[in-house]
Amino acid sequence: MRALANFIDGRHVPPASGAYIDKVNPATGEAIARVPDSDGADVDLAVAAALKAFPAWSALPAAERCRYLVAVADRIEANFDRLAEAETADTGKPLRLAKAMDIPRASANLRHFATAILHAHSETFRTDQAALNYTLRQPRGVAGIISPWNLPLYLFTWKIAPALATGNTVVAKPSELTPTTATMLSEYFAEVGVPAGVFNLVHGIGAKAGAALVAHPRVPTISFTGGTKTGADIARSAAPMFKKIALELGGKNPTIVFADTNLDEALPVLVRSAFENQGEICLCGSRIFVEEPLYPAFVERFTDAARRLRVGDPLDPAVDQGALISAAHFRKVMSYIDLAREDGGRILCGGGPPDDVGPRCRAGVFVQPTVITDLPPDCRVNQEEIFGPVATVAPFRRETEVIDWANSTAYGLAASLWTRDLGRAHRVAERIQSGTVWINCWLLRDLRVPFGGMKQSGVGREGGDEALRFFTEPKTICIKYPVEPV
Ligand code: NDP
Repeated sequence: MRALANFIDGRHVPPASGAYIDKVNPATGEAIARVPDSDGADVDLAVAAALKAFPAWSALPAAERCRYLVAVADRIEANFDRLAEAETADTGKPLRLAKAMDIPRASANLRHFATAILHAHSETFRTDQAALNYTLRQPRGVAGIISPWNLPLYLFTWKIAPALATGNTVVAKPSELTPTTATMLSEYFAEVGVPAGVFNLVHGIGAKAGAALVAHPRVPTISFTGGTKTGADIARSAAPMFKKIALELGGKNPTIVFADTNLDEALPVLVRSAFENQGEICLCGSRIFVEEPLYPAFVERFTDAARRLRVGDPLDPAVDQGALISAAHFRKVMSYIDLAREDGGRILCGGGPPDDVGPRCRAGVFVQPTVITDLPPDCRVNQEEIFGPVATVAPFRRETEVIDWANSTAYGLAASLWTRDLGRAHRVAERIQSGTVWINCWLLRDLRVPFGGMKQSGVGREGGDEALRFFTEPKTICIKYPVEPV
């Protein structure tokens, strides 16, 4: 079994403690790699390397940093199949999806921010007192990056790219459940000659390596994507040091379907929005509210489509849904399905593992797409993030009622609403408490728009200028100039 390495100061190195954790392929149950169980000692080395590299990297012309990051994007594309296979082995997601979504987005992230810095501009303000104010945006130093397991390389690069492009150096910790593509990425950084210490990778578990990174006094910037509870722990640790933190956290996203929706067109997207990536996308719509006249037809057609999704070996190109990330997560998802049953919910399809997932995957952790009705909006299944292939469907009568239900959770990450009435679309979108509202679409992403959540879905925004601003410190320079009388 291959032992993965940390990447510190331009070299692949074992963890200081010599300890490793086994990484299991969740689709097969097989241990596939040994992951460094790093601790504060590794983080200290990585931060020291990043600090040493910072002055030269931040002083490089933007065009030079752009060239390096574009070269890394090229390496991602040259290794496309290997990366997709590694992502599938780590996560259990269908290989087809890793190829269609995860890996293309990783190289797009690097290209986007590498080129964005070429067009960056700053504000100037001329005052009546014959003075000119202009703003410098300077990199903040070492950025600590912590990312989750559901979209591993996709979210890892989403953070690393703007941090590096703006001139910061990076110490990054991916989820220990998905370490492989981050390790491959570190090889590309070395291959294209990015100076040592600019990008550092420290593997390990969150409570140890992640917590040490957040607590490190020389890391003033923390960008985190993960669960809401972990986000609260990070905020608690970082706040007394006045670190700048961005928290992209959980969601419990509503999908609102009005009766005038063209179901023939919408259904495939609605099914994806509930079950894509086994429902393990923070943006999945897990609470579906359908206007009453359409409700019976919707439930029948949506359930039928969910039942027809093929669950099985992620390497099978005909499969729609692969394994969940781990046995622990499987138990969590199943506990919510059990809770739905106890609360009187009707399970219309799914509700447990499929009968047959093929010989290679007998020891894997799979859950069928599960559709549940007859649950009130305020029950735990409808309030807490499950992060699996489980969607509830409920009818509504009035616009105001469905807006209240949509806004009734602690989260506010994303929503989708479906209608042909343009006035209603804008009216409802304005009143939904979430960072993104998709109208007649879902997961249609533009890397320039602000992305993030409100309420317990997070603090701050990523994407486009928001990310460039987050990773830089604005400095106002005010210069007075003499005005000669004419
Ligand atoms: P976790 O919060 O468990 O972990 C996220 C990352 O934080 C992992 O690398 C984890 O390491 C690390 N970590 C855990 N504890 C600490 C700590 N005390 N200090 C520092 N780092 C720590 O989330 P998951 O990996 O389970 O990811 C799923 C969650 O992510 C869901 O809630 C989902 O909604 C959210 N998410 C949000 C997105 C958004 O854009 N808003 C996008 C994608 C996911 P380790 O894995 O080793 O524990």
